[in-house]
Amino acid sequence: MTLRIAIGGLCLILGCGIYAQAAEEVVLTYKDGRKEKVELASYDAEQIVVRIKVGKNLMDVKVPWDKIQDLSNGLTAERVREKWREANKDKLCAECQGVRTVNCVKCGGEGKLVKERVPCGACKAEGVLTCQGKDCDKGKVPCPEPCIKKGVGEWVTGKDGNPWRRYRFGGQYVEWSEGHVGELVVMEDGKPANKGNCPTCNRTTRVDCAQCKGAGTQPCAECKGEKSVPKPGAAPDCPDCEGGKAVCKACKGKGLKE
Ligand SMILES: [Zn+2]
Ligand SMILES: [Zn+2]
Ligand SMILES: [Zn+2]
Ligand SMILES: [Zn+2]
Ligand SMILES: [Zn+2]
Repeated sequence: MTLRIAIGGLCLILGCGIYAQAAEEVVLTYKDGRKEKVELASYDAEQIVVRIKVGKNLMDVKVPWDKIQDLSNGLTAERVREKWREANKDKLCAECQGVRTVNCVKCGGEGKLVKERVPCGACKAEGVLTCQGKDCDKGKVPCPEPCIKKGVGEWVTGKDGNPWRRYRFGGQYVEWSEGHVGELVVMEDGKPANKGNCPTCNRTTRVDCAQCKGAGTQPCAECKGEKSVPKPGAAPDCPDCEGGKAVCKACKGKGLKE
């Protein structure tokens, strides 16, 4: 392989077109999106060598793997390098195992720095919002049972000047004073009947809101309760690497022991 590159290099200088082996035709897609139909002359762990026609001459051009997005024959740097590592397994750099790069320490191999966080605007950095459940008031909703509730139903001012809850039935009515708030009143034989303390709300006329389970708040969906959100916009590129990979310092990117 090395020899073929050497011949290719020589031909590059001499502009000759004599080759021992027929080159394979492939479509080469570059990282910048460019596509080119080329003859693949050779390849190794660093690069591929493609043969292109320039006027009447054939030229060999080296294309490093890091400029290549894709080759139509499925050849990848990973596969070539894996073979290379197998062939050189006794000589590989202990630090990178012959991969030549290591995960960047600064960004943990992400290639992007962790985004700065800013206070969540949706919850004013509280992490929670007031419960949006229907009728929820500080975690409580009106008791669903027909217990006597202040302000609900017909209330009249009694002779004592206090409010009374009036229940009408068949042209008559019955009343209970404010002191009976929280008592359960149900129709029995066509008449309202007071059954005493409402067992559902225990006389409080209110029960826990099902949505917030009585908390009165719900976690902020925007920040998931974290009180802060990532700053808008793209995360900054890591200044220490490219795409999360940093050249292995131990072998200076050669992949082999010194
Ligand atoms: Zn190394
Ligand atoms: Zn990095
Ligand atoms: Zn009740
Ligand atoms: Zn609620
Ligand atoms: Zn929030």
